[in-house]
Amino acid sequence: MTDDTEKKKRRLKKAMDTDSRLMAHQHCPIDGKAIPMSEEFCSPACQEKYQSMMKKRKFTIMLFYAATIMFIILILISGGST
Ligand SMILES: [Zn+2]
Repeated sequence: MTDDTEKKKRRLKKAMDTDSRLMAHQHCPIDGKAIPMSEEFCSPACQEKYQSMMKKRKFTIMLFYAATIMFIILILISGGST
């Protein structure tokens, strides 16, 4: 019995330790450097990189959607008459 509670306590303490470590900092999405929770990036250069990356990604997604819609329209046009 006492052994069990001891184990539980230890596990809880370990979980809390991990939590506080996670709460204390996060990582820069560009180079993975540890940064404080109040910051999003480790440097303005990383912020710029991230923003241009997101723009590129948005553009790629838009292109993908446009291609899919074009493909569907083409199928509808070619299949509709027969
Ligand atoms: Zn960074």
